[in-house]
Amino acid sequence: MRMSQMLLVTLRETPAEAEIPSHQLLLRAGYIRRIGSGLYGYLPLMWRVLNKISQIVREEMNVTGAQECLLPQLQPSELWEESGRWETYTKAEGIMFSLIDRQERKLGLGPTHEEVITAIARDTIRSYRQLPQNLYQIQTKFRDEIRPRFGLMRGREFIMKDAYSFNADAASLKETYNAMGNAYAKILQRCGLSFTAVEADSGAIGGSASQEFMVLAEAGEDEVLYTEDGNYAANLEKAVSIPPDAELSPFSSYEKRETPNTATIATVCEFLGCSPTNVVKNVLYEAVYDNGKQVLVLVSIRGDQDVNEVKLNNELASLAKNYGSLALIGLNVPDVEAQKTWAAKPLPLGYIAPDLGDDYIQGGEKVESSFLRLVDQTAVDLENFVTGANQVGYHVVGANWGTEFMLPKMVVDVRSAQVGDRAVHDPQQRLQTARGIEVGHIFQLGTKYSEAMGATYTSEQGEEKPFYMGCYGIGVSRLAQSAVEQSYDKNGIIWPVAIAPYQVVITVPNITDPKQVEVAETLYQDLQKAGIEVLLDDRDDRAGVKFKDADLIGIPYRVVTGRSLKEGKVELVKRADQSSEDIPTTDVVTTLRNLLQNELNR
Ligand code: ATP
Ligand code: MG
Repeated sequence: MRMSQMLLVTLRETPAEAEIPSHQLLLRAGYIRRIGSGLYGYLPLMWRVLNKISQIVREEMNVTGAQECLLPQLQPSELWEESGRWETYTKAEGIMFSLIDRQERKLGLGPTHEEVITAIARDTIRSYRQLPQNLYQIQTKFRDEIRPRFGLMRGREFIMKDAYSFNADAASLKETYNAMGNAYAKILQRCGLSFTAVEADSGAIGGSASQEFMVLAEAGEDEVLYTEDGNYAANLEKAVSIPPDAELSPFSSYEKRETPNTATIATVCEFLGCSPTNVVKNVLYEAVYDNGKQVLVLVSIRGDQDVNEVKLNNELASLAKNYGSLALIGLNVPDVEAQKTWAAKPLPLGYIAPDLGDDYIQGGEKVESSFLRLVDQTAVDLENFVTGANQVGYHVVGANWGTEFMLPKMVVDVRSAQVGDRAVHDPQQRLQTARGIEVGHIFQLGTKYSEAMGATYTSEQGEEKPFYMGCYGIGVSRLAQSAVEQSYDKNGIIWPVAIAPYQVVITVPNITDPKQVEVAETLYQDLQKAGIEVLLDDRDDRAGVKFKDADLIGIPYRVVTGRSLKEGKVELVKRADQSSEDIPTTDVVTTLRNLLQNELNR
């Protein structure tokens, strides 16, 4: 491509809308343009990058035997009602854009495709002989993200590769899942990214095992906890660990104490001269189910620990049927306004005890009349503990389960693992922390969707059985930006060769010098003939501007038809480290071919 004919507008200034380096650079280097919140136009350079990533994804998917297809983005609400996700996705989480057509039919714009693909499998896969099947597509997804940000990292419209497998049983699903995990590792490696696979929460999509592929970078929105030995890595949402040991309680008898202004753990511990590990803190939540039922939840947990809301959410979701509902649609810490809707009297916030009376809950058709009491494992073995006295300005000390307080029947693990905690697999190992960008996510869904939607096959024994399903997503556009986040310098982007929009740029410092132009034109033709993707900077601009742009847009190699031409040489510069050498013009094609091949095979 001749740069004189290309739509390329680079910016010297960093656009104010962009917070993180990769977003700033993609805007400055003319790869993307913002059209609206979370909406971007992919300009020609960006589109080449995205196509290269898609091609790598496609090749590695095909290696696993997965088959490419393309499913509709407009999805009828009926399918989502069958799976039970219409309300959750359009109302509770509100992540799905939905609309009503001229015939008054409700439709959603696909944020994901479990429902559509399960409907197709239900109609087309009849027998065990057709299994396993794995279908994938590369397509634009729509999600009404509450906080679209960081450019392509969290868009409202973005490109995803999603795959769905249909297996006869759990063992077969596991095989496909493992093959997809290997393919993901290969894809990221080929794209030149350094990454970690972590244990992940399965979230609203449901199911059992799941893994996320994280590109480690400061700008990542996820926190990863891992151990140095490489044997454990998990998303904080899912991570487990051994909590620190509790200290011995300084109290030996039960007493109520006046503790003014001690609504936080730190202040009460200072006042009483004890450790946060001696305290049982009681945290109030409000759960809302899809039938409108509101349940007030009181979680008792050791004072030095925090509730992990993802884990709590999963516990409460699993109780949905106890409340005559299919799904949990909301979980929040009730604020003053929310309390007004159900509290019978002011709550002793900051001084709540595990036995906070149910008479704090005003009756109401939609409000469960008693607290759901949960106790985290960390609080179960505490002795002579401190906790609230259900009265503002007072705590009790020296309390014990079974004497002053009833231990809640539901013992759960809802604590957040913390950096520095001992690892479960080896207590010698301590958890470390890193930030990660989730670029891929694979799930074993099991029979959740197939059962809900009646998608079955006939087994060898002649029985109707639900499919075991897996789903596997990779954010193509997010991956592209992650590569920039992981590889740039003060001058601009440094694309890994495999996904660079072009591999080489020929820079002609002075286009009024016929010799420079002649050599550049010849090289341009020769490189193209050799199958090398090349840009020719034939713009009528100063050399300095051209060098700056070449660095900014991040083309891996630059060939300069400059001073050394009189010795029959050109300068070859490597973008990554700016190293340069003069090589004979006649060697350019072979040299570049070898350099590129080496990097692509790494
Ligand atoms: P996140 O936790 O970041 O919101 P998710 O877990 O909801 O993502 P999945 O449903 O697992 O995302 O989607 C598969 C992949 O699609 C993700 O791993 C990510 O790479 C990409 N992705 C998801 N949401 C977005 C988005 N809003 N913009 C760009 N890429 C996205
Ligand atoms: Mg995910």
